[in-house]
Amino acid sequence: MLKVSAVRAFSDNYIWLIHSPRDATQVVAVDPGDARPVESALAAGLKLAGILITHRHADHVGGVERLAQQHAVQIYGPSNEAVPGDPNRVREGDAAPFAGLGLEFQVLDIPGHTAGHVAYVGHGAVFCGDTLFSAGCGRVFEGTPEQMLQSLAKLAALPEETYVYCGHEYTVANLNFAQAVEPENLESVEYLEECRRRRTRNEATVPSTIRRERNVNPFLRCHQQSVKQAAEAKAGRRLQNATEVFAVIRQWKDGFTA
Ligand SMILES: [Zn+2]
Repeated sequence: MLKVSAVRAFSDNYIWLIHSPRDATQVVAVDPGDARPVESALAAGLKLAGILITHRHADHVGGVERLAQQHAVQIYGPSNEAVPGDPNRVREGDAAPFAGLGLEFQVLDIPGHTAGHVAYVGHGAVFCGDTLFSAGCGRVFEGTPEQMLQSLAKLAALPEETYVYCGHEYTVANLNFAQAVEPENLESVEYLEECRRRRTRNEATVPSTIRRERNVNPFLRCHQQSVKQAAEAKAGRRLQNATEVFAVIRQWKDGFTA
């Protein structure tokens, strides 16, 4: 199994360090929004050999320039977005190999949060930035609900044991919303208890798994009758398809406080 360490940044971002299976002291950083906490983590005896960028937002790329100046890194980033560090540009169908490290990832286009957002899939894990969160999804800033739903469906179709490494610690708030949508989803009730306990101990709730997300994440469950009915009650009208259901619950979540 892939060894991945979490580096915390800002109030709730995760910068993931993927360790080389050949030499665990060599790491690839995913979405280093801030160079300082990465440098602190490296000071424990790690060597930064690569960077993966999922999308252009500052809290995901803010540290790229400085890390690229300080370390000999191979960088991959989305082909359709302006990101720093002069990365190798990748899109769906491309691979992102780190040959010396024994690591290689496949790229998926997952637009919606931003127009050029990509995910990196490999070694039983997916690094999906701000598109899929545990029990939630990113805001739709640059795409349509239909695009975002398609991007989420692409992620949901990965093997169910795939570990989901997302960009933020939002799980408890997301589950509070998930329960407003599906109050009778018992897995979501149990998962919320578990996540609350972990947060009390200041532990991360991620990675999640695709299996877990299919079972608790309302944004991956727009085709379920329970989610459709909750969305129709919220909208006060019949909804024709999963895209309409998604649009209603995404908007509901935007204004949700619990
Ligand atoms: Zn973002």
